[in-house]
Amino acid sequence: MCQKFFKLINKQEGNDILENKKLCLILLGAPGAGKGTQAEIISKKYNIPTISTGNIIREALKNETPLGLEAKSYIDSGALVPDNVIISIVKDRLSEPDCKNGFILDGVPRTIAQAQALDEMGVEINKVVSIEVPDEKIISRLSGRRVCNKCGSSYHITDKPSKKQDICDNCDGSLIIRHDDDPKIISDRLKVYHDQTEPLKDYYESKGLLKIVEGQDILEETTSLVDKVLRSE
Ligand SMILES: [Zn+2]
Repeated sequence: MCQKFFKLINKQEGNDILENKKLCLILLGAPGAGKGTQAEIISKKYNIPTISTGNIIREALKNETPLGLEAKSYIDSGALVPDNVIISIVKDRLSEPDCKNGFILDGVPRTIAQAQALDEMGVEINKVVSIEVPDEKIISRLSGRRVCNKCGSSYHITDKPSKKQDICDNCDGSLIIRHDDDPKIISDRLKVYHDQTEPLKDYYESKGLLKIVEGQDILEETTSLVDKVLRSE
């Protein structure tokens, strides 16, 4: 089905990239750059799951997998879960059947050490897209962001409103402002991103995998730029 779909878009776009090819994608971008929204769109369009560390660690804890229990021992003692444990959980998740056509990593790797761990464990990545938006613009955007408190779907009061105000389109959950989107906290998060995660751009540039997309004010314009780089070599 996925192959047929790829053929269909290739026909429409006159482009032969992605045909019979898995899309193993890392999405980079500062908090508020629109990465999560683009991940959802790509996920639906290419029929591949979005893997984010928060979600899979919660899953591993809930299912009490051996790695989940290992992570729990660190969390219970108040320590950070080490990179090799996080990346092992990611690798486990990537072996599940829904990843057979590819996957999107969102929020992982977060550091060079995690990227190296991914490489050492043989996780194949064939594209890295960095969505870039100036810090000032991010700060002004974030005040409008809303997240479903049940399923985690993201919305924006002007850019991507829900059909009913403050109610999730997918599950009827309530839409809330995340603690992390508090403007007081956001500049700290941007600093952490620039210090710890942005060096990944050089890391993947040197492997010839990095594509830069300038985040646009209009969501669909960013989506179309992302789509273009996904289909480019
Ligand atoms: Zn929801």
